[in-house]
Amino acid sequence: MTATDASTELREGYFGAFGGQFVPESLSDALAQLVDAWADAEADAAFGAQLDALRRDYGGRPTPLYHAARLSEVCGLEVWLKREDLAHTGSHKLNNVVGQALLAQRMGKPRVIAETGAGQHGVATATAAALFGLRCTVYMGAEDCRRQRLNVVRMQLLGAEVVPVESGTRTLKDAINEAMRDWVTNVDDTHYLIGSAMGPHPFPTIVRELQKVISVEDKEQFATQAGGVPDAVIACVGGGSNAIGSFAEWIDVPEVRLIGIEAAGEGVGSGRSAATISEGREAVLHGSRSIVLVDDDGQVRPAHSVSAGLDYPGVGPEHAWLASSGRGTYLAATDEDALEGFRRTCELEGIIPALEPAHAVGWLLRHGRAELGEGARVVLTMSGRGDKDVDEVVEVAGWDLGVARAFGNDGGVRVPAGQAGTEAATETATEVDADGGTGVGAEGPA
Ligand SMILES: *Cc1c(COP(=O)(O)O)cnc(C)c1O
Repeated sequence: MTATDASTELREGYFGAFGGQFVPESLSDALAQLVDAWADAEADAAFGAQLDALRRDYGGRPTPLYHAARLSEVCGLEVWLKREDLAHTGSHKLNNVVGQALLAQRMGKPRVIAETGAGQHGVATATAAALFGLRCTVYMGAEDCRRQRLNVVRMQLLGAEVVPVESGTRTLKDAINEAMRDWVTNVDDTHYLIGSAMGPHPFPTIVRELQKVISVEDKEQFATQAGGVPDAVIACVGGGSNAIGSFAEWIDVPEVRLIGIEAAGEGVGSGRSAATISEGREAVLHGSRSIVLVDDDGQVRPAHSVSAGLDYPGVGPEHAWLASSGRGTYLAATDEDALEGFRRTCELEGIIPALEPAHAVGWLLRHGRAELGEGARVVLTMSGRGDKDVDEVVEVAGWDLGVARAFGNDGGVRVPAGQAGTEAATETATEVDADGGTGVGAEGPA
C-alpha cells in the first residue's frame, strides 16, 4: 500500500486496513441490497439527472466559493470559504440525504431512520422524508436534544418522530447504537440513512460519492475565481462526511494539502476530547474498522466537544486510511479555538458559522500561517451555519452580550427601555427570536 493508492478501495469496502462490514448477520442482506442498489443507481443516468435537478432546484447548489478578505488578512493567508452553510437546511448534510432517500425509494423502503448529533442530519433526513413522502424516525442523544432544541422542533415540524436516547453519554454514539437496533428489527421496510462517511460498507463509499459534489464544485470555482489550485483544502472532521466530500476531487492532486481538523475539546490528552485520529487506536466501532477513542481496557471512551456535531469517538475509515498513508494531515482544535473561530467569522465576515467548521477557522487563525506559510491559498469548507449553536455559544463562552441577557441565558431578564415587567421583556426576546430564527428564546439553561 502506498500513498498513491489513497483514493482506491483496495478490496471491496476497504481503505487499506480500514472499513469492512462488522455487523450482525441479520443486516448482511440489507447491506448487500444496498451495494446493488447503489451500483444500479450509479449506472443509471436518470438517477444522476434526478439528483442534479434536486441539488440545483431544491438544495440551492452550487454553493458559492467566497473569498473571505478580512479573515484572510487576520490569518495572513488567502482564505476561500466553500459556503455549504448556504445550502438548504443550513449544512452539507442534505447532499447525502437526498441521494440516500432516492436510494430508499429505489429499494422500495417506505421508512427511513437516522441518528443525529447536532440535529443537522436529523433535520436533513426529516426534510428529505417529507419531500419523498417517507416515514421518518430520528434518534438523538438526550443531552444533544437539550443542546440543540431548535433542531428537535424543526424535525417535528417536518413530520419526523424524534426519539431522545437516554443511554450511555446521551450523545451521538448512543443515538447510533439505538438506530442500529431499530434497523436490525425493521430492516425489511426501513433504510438506515447514515449521516456521515462511516458505518459498514457500502455507507462510507456512498456518503463520499454523494458529498463529493463539494469538491467537484470548488475545484472548478477555484480555477475560475482564483486561478490554479489551492495550497490546502481544510475541513472539520466529525464522522468525516464534509471533509471527505471536500477532499475527494483533490486526492489525486498531490500539490494540494488535505487537512482535517478534529475537535480537541479541552485539549489533546486532557481526557476530554474528540480528536479521534490524534488520540485513538485501531478498533471496530459501528460496523467498520477504523480509528476509535478507547481507554486502556479497550472500551470506547466518551468524546467531548463544545460542538455536538463533532462529539463522536470514531471517524470514517477512509480518513483513517488517508491519515495512515500520509495523504491527509489530521490536526485538532480545542473548544476555545472553535469559539475564537466562531467569534472572528461573525465579526470579520458577517457569517455566523456552525461550531463544527469554527474549529477549522480557529485552527487557521492560530496555526495556519506557521503551518502553511504566509499568503498560502486555502479553501475551507464552511460546512454549516451557526443558528443552532448561538445558545450554546452564549452559555459556554459567557460573553456579555446584551442579546444573551435578552435570551435569558444568564438567568436575568433585561428590560428594554420603555418597557416594564418580565412579560414585556420575554415578548421582546421572542421577537428577536422570530427575526433571527435562532429559536433559543424559549428555554434558557437554568
Ligand atoms: C454534522 C456536521 C459536521 C460533522 O459531520 P461530518 O460527517 O464530519 O461532516 C460538521 N459540520 C456541520 C455543520 C455539521 O452539521
